[in-house]
Amino acid sequence: MIKAVIFDIDNTLYDFSTTTKLGAEAFARYCNVHFGMSIDEAERGWKEAYDAVMDRMGMENPAYHNRLVRSQYFLEKRGLPVFPHAMELAMTYWNTLIRNMKVEEGLVELLEALKNKGIKIGIGTNMTAFVQFEKIRALGISQYVDCMVTSEEAAAEKPTKPFFDYALGKLGISCDECVFIGDDAKNDMQGAKGAGMIPVWYTPHAGEADRRLIEELKVTDRIDNYRECILSDGGIRLGSVRI
Ligand SMILES: [Mg+2]
Repeated sequence: MIKAVIFDIDNTLYDFSTTTKLGAEAFARYCNVHFGMSIDEAERGWKEAYDAVMDRMGMENPAYHNRLVRSQYFLEKRGLPVFPHAMELAMTYWNTLIRNMKVEEGLVELLEALKNKGIKIGIGTNMTAFVQFEKIRALGISQYVDCMVTSEEAAAEKPTKPFFDYALGKLGISCDECVFIGDDAKNDMQGAKGAGMIPVWYTPHAGEADRRLIEELKVTDRIDNYRECILSDGGIRLGSVRI
């Protein structure tokens, strides 16, 4: 029996792919205004800062997501002052992204329906806690969330099993009682499957690499639009899972 549904956040509750581009553009405009840097150079530098911080920390360390650390690297690399600009850049990026987020179509209705059936709602996300809490608040869905898990808190990243085990422990349920919904084939689907949960793939923002891996993983449950999850008889359908 399904007792909980855990949702990823980015590209699962809102369109991260579009909003992160807007955040990066705002970052570049700040650099253009304050340092006379070209937009191109700033955007390239932002990507390069991502690679450099990730290479140094490794992808198992949730701190590699931290945009303040990334902004700090970007400035130090160019001999530019980190005060006040590192914080200003990080907040410019996040505030732009958050301001442009829109909750995915049909999601609120699905959360409402799950709540009405007594299903616990969890969030399972790779990222620093501070900004993920802010996203849930800004999306206006915090009242539905029973259990929040970030990789920073769990000290483990998806797709590793400790992340998923930590979430199950917080919910107090076993793996076969839990559906995990996410866009990322590796982090969400491979991870949830490996931890014994039921993986359900959210497709609207998934890329070609995700599609290939989904086939290899033989994950067949998918959601193309949250509206399809609510059935006319009042039931809920998550892929082939009926609630
Ligand atoms: Mg995601």
